[in-house]
Amino acid sequence: MLLAGTVVVDSTTVIQEGAVVVEGDRIAAVGDESDLGEAYPDHERRSFDLLMPGLVGGHVHSVQSLGRGIADDTALFDWLYDAVLPMEASLDADATRVAAELGYLELLESGVTTAVDHLSVAHADEAFEAAIDLGIRGRLGKVLMDDDAPDGLREETQAALDDSERLIRNYHGAADGRVQYALTPRFAVTCTEACLRGVRDLADRYDGVRIHTHASESRDEIAAVETETGMRNVHWLDEVGLTGEDVILAHCVWTDESERRVLAETGTHVVYCPSSNMKLASGVAPVVDYLDRGINVAVGNDGPPCNNTLDPFTEMRQASLLQKVDALDPTVTPAGRVFEMATINGAKAAGFDDVGRLASGWKADVVGLSTDLTRATPLRDVLSHLVFSAHGDDVTFTMVDGEVCYDRGELVAADADAIRRRARERARELDVS
Ligand SMILES: [Zn+2]
Repeated sequence: MLLAGTVVVDSTTVIQEGAVVVEGDRIAAVGDESDLGEAYPDHERRSFDLLMPGLVGGHVHSVQSLGRGIADDTALFDWLYDAVLPMEASLDADATRVAAELGYLELLESGVTTAVDHLSVAHADEAFEAAIDLGIRGRLGKVLMDDDAPDGLREETQAALDDSERLIRNYHGAADGRVQYALTPRFAVTCTEACLRGVRDLADRYDGVRIHTHASESRDEIAAVETETGMRNVHWLDEVGLTGEDVILAHCVWTDESERRVLAETGTHVVYCPSSNMKLASGVAPVVDYLDRGINVAVGNDGPPCNNTLDPFTEMRQASLLQKVDALDPTVTPAGRVFEMATINGAKAAGFDDVGRLASGWKADVVGLSTDLTRATPLRDVLSHLVFSAHGDDVTFTMVDGEVCYDRGELVAADADAIRRRARERARELDVS
């Protein structure tokens, strides 16, 4: 397939009147439309206003999608224990499947091709099957909670680890490597030391498996960990093996100097979730400082109950604006820096080294957008448009691994109307306040 249009290769390179040639699951060539049209005359040709690498949702909870709109104006611990965990506990297998499909639909239709997805304790198989069927690239994991967790979610330590290992064997590397596994403790507060050390042990035993957890999101959380362990949260995670190049930590809002040194020295990945941090009033993650230290920072929407949208363009905009106002310096997060976080940095955190750029030999994860829009007029700078003005609704085409997943308002592998209808039905039945 030959995709023609203005091509955003990455955060620094844009080709006007360009093209991307896709063969199998890879990009065969990127360059001028006229040259590639001559070189590949027999390829099916599609034209777009704008083509860009698929965006990476660095931290998301697809299975919370039926809880969109619950507990809007609450702080993290009330939000979690009084609303979100009871909601997760009430999901049966069918509701989990519907929620995951709704989440992946929202991501694919708004230009996200890779999701780092924090599932729930039960029915994780349903989300894996949904990701495989709908075509999204994913780093998914079942949640582990063996301490201080409500009924219906708390598991015995070994049972939680055994179920994680079963899922690794069943799904890690599924769909030709498009779906990968992340061991996913909820956060230090809900996991025993044995559980966290068991997670590290499993990650070491299975090649390519990563660890994904929440860390230092709120001051209540770091106080709870300090009371329990006598240590700052990141030091505790480091002590039990949950730092390193295979570890993805969502949030990291409240870290001190010594913790930041640990994150940098261990190559731990951080995911910045600005809308969630603002909505729950958690605080402002020191993202510019992290980037300056060489820490890899991705961007994530977090879950529908704390955002309440999975639109990655909104998140890029918030990601930039929050850092600017926090620093009282408009230069700290220009569009290119944020676009990099939402593409190549996210792919690096997710463990997909050939994702995040439109370049020859890289995976064909490509998004097409319309710019024939009032908010895109005039279009002076493409990256500025994508970060500060564009919206998920502008996306008309989403390709993952060389397969078209979303095309002109239609999901290819499933009926989007049917997913929304089922989601409304199942959401009405949920036990939520
Ligand atoms: Zn989260």
